[in-house]
Amino acid sequence: MTRITVAKGDGIGPEIMDATLNILKAAGAQIEVDEIQVGEKVYLSGNTSGISDESWDIIRKNKIFLKAPITTPQGGGYKSLNVTTRKFLGLYSNVRPCLSLHPFVSTKHPIMDVVIIRENEEDLYAGIEHQQTDEVIQCLKLISRPGCEKIVRYAFEYARVQNRKKVTCFTKDNIMKQTDGLFHQVFDEIAKEYPEIENEHWIIDIGAAKLADTPEIFDVIVMPNLYGDVLSDVAAQIAGSVGLAGSANIGEECAMFEAIHGSAPRRAGQNMANPSGLLQGAIMMLSHLGQNDVAEKIQNAWLKTIEDGVHTYDIYKDGVSKEKVGTHEFAEAVIANLGHKPQILKGVTYSKDQKMILPTYHRKPAQKKDLEGVDLFIHWSGTDPNQLAEIMKHIQHPNISLSMITNRGIKVWPNGFKETFCTDHWRCRFKPAEGNGISKSDIIDLLNQAENHGIDVVKTENLYSFNGVRAYSLGQGQ
Ligand code: NAD
Repeated sequence: MTRITVAKGDGIGPEIMDATLNILKAAGAQIEVDEIQVGEKVYLSGNTSGISDESWDIIRKNKIFLKAPITTPQGGGYKSLNVTTRKFLGLYSNVRPCLSLHPFVSTKHPIMDVVIIRENEEDLYAGIEHQQTDEVIQCLKLISRPGCEKIVRYAFEYARVQNRKKVTCFTKDNIMKQTDGLFHQVFDEIAKEYPEIENEHWIIDIGAAKLADTPEIFDVIVMPNLYGDVLSDVAAQIAGSVGLAGSANIGEECAMFEAIHGSAPRRAGQNMANPSGLLQGAIMMLSHLGQNDVAEKIQNAWLKTIEDGVHTYDIYKDGVSKEKVGTHEFAEAVIANLGHKPQILKGVTYSKDQKMILPTYHRKPAQKKDLEGVDLFIHWSGTDPNQLAEIMKHIQHPNISLSMITNRGIKVWPNGFKETFCTDHWRCRFKPAEGNGISKSDIIDLLNQAENHGIDVVKTENLYSFNGVRAYSLGQGQ
């Protein structure tokens, strides 16, 4: 028996959770439930995160959390419980299977069976944003080696255990050569450890277009956080089944499972809602717990129920569906089908003994790190880069000099184009003369001089090489 934490949530949450738990119980899932209260009531009692300290204690003790959707009250100040939970519990992997149920649920893509695996903790979601000038705000995109290794390994282990044939990686490393470049590089490294699984990399733009057009060519797709956020919704929608999809958020210690839809308050309390999304989350939970036989039994019974045309209102279609049922009756139909397999839809077989092998990340030995220069970011309201270059001549150093000015990444000095539009946010790159080094005190000296001449430095960025390889981008056009 595994003790899990359950939150019944708001709106349709309690009904779909009861339906899901009834199915799990009937199928013989080895779980015991501790129920906690999260969501609207907790928010409205004055707790801006929607969850109490006592509930956190239970989630952290049980480690496995099955969560129904919650309602986030309108108005400012309420923090997303999902984002908080993912980050606090280190749930680095978001797994969302998107399966077409053609011809029983309408879709343009009859043979789609894609699993999107999204990195869940870093990228532009680190939430580090700063306004630096009147005109420019930055958001830091943080990509780490442990973050990449954990999510890419998760994707290959998922493919291995679920008998999937191919893992595809989507990045934009033709533009973001350092950040997305690392994600792609780690993908190539880890793919070598799984020679039995096909691997490929697509640039995200054409990859996304292909996914929307011909999803049948994909199997498992792994990608950084932002791309995964967008494309997992696209994939669920084009499978024809946003209301039928579940998702898993997996960490090294804890995991959270849920439906991808919200609390649909207008449908609450009417025995109308489709419990399938949450049930899909719960099936992933059972697999995660190693209860693959129960997971398989429920998934096949669910597929059979869909195939029998026993449908809730949201997927009911005259001519295709046979019987329009409520939440409770749908769950009863799934229970009656336990032990049966679908005839037309593809039944599932989950490996009985295979468990994912997800080693803890160990920090690699430090690399040789050399300081090669510095970028000073300047707030300056002029428009002519040549004039800014003249102003920057006030910053004098025997070995270090201004080598380039960019504006929004595009080189505007020396030899810029007068057509290039410039904002009030300039990057001035200082590098030592050939054969000379640069130290941190040199940078402090440059900054002191800038301050003495009224130059408004809003940020500095050190330029490093690691093991002799340049580890910063060149200016566009440099
Ligand atoms: P929603 O997903 O709750 O509902 C959109 C529409 O989809 C509903 O009106 C309903 O017609 C349909 N629908 C959704 N789930 C269904 C189901 N299981 N069965 C049948 N029909 C279903 O999205 P929304 O209306 O934008 O959001 C409502 C609330 O849910 C908001 O407070 C939002 O913040 C919250 N929300 C919570 C989560 C979560 O807890 N993970 C996720 C998304 C939205």
